[in-house]
Amino acid sequence: GERQEVDLNTLADEYLRLAYHGLRAKDKSFNATLVTDFDLNLGKVEAVSQDLGRVLLNLFTNAFYAVQKKKECCPQGYTPTVSVSTRHIPSGEVEVRVRDNGTGIPVGVQQKIFQPFFTTKPTGEGTGLGLSLSYDIITKGHGGTLTLETNEGEGTEFIITLPPSDGVA
Ligand code: ADP
Ligand code: MG
Repeated sequence: GERQEVDLNTLADEYLRLAYHGLRAKDKSFNATLVTDFDLNLGKVEAVSQDLGRVLLNLFTNAFYAVQKKKECCPQGYTPTVSVSTRHIPSGEVEVRVRDNGTGIPVGVQQKIFQPFFTTKPTGEGTGLGLSLSYDIITKGHGGTLTLETNEGEGTEFIITLPPSDGVA
């Protein structure tokens, strides 16, 4: 794909809703609260829009899966919530955070999740390729970083950073 000036807020908003409504089309009982917190002065980033969209879709799909699992386990007083936020960080880079209050990732699993074909999902529900592909797209494809913070039982947050666009947005 070609690099272009991408409006990350719009892309993230669209893919969050796409992922959510896609899941709900398959499972009408699925429900989650969507939260967005966009920096309206973000400007644009130079990126391959389709590739960033795939990353976001992967992260959102994983997040919805994690909140659904948590709801099956512990529905009492639980509001499944998936959030996305954007902001500039002091280094000048642009940051996107995708957060869920789902199952979290156990310590023993955390170091494996970026490996191709690693999945904890039943056959047919996951290929284990989403995060390894996402990692390559962000790091090799865009010179950015993809990291996470997670607490088992509490949730997970994936953090993308992207270099700022050289040109004026
Ligand atoms: P897949 O979704 O096909 O399993 P991924 O590469 O997207 O493959 O994710 C690999 C594994 O990382 C998942 O099977 C799951 O164990 C873990 N994981 C990823 N995102 C989350 C999340 N938001 N919450 C809990 N576990 C996650
Ligand atoms: Mg996945």
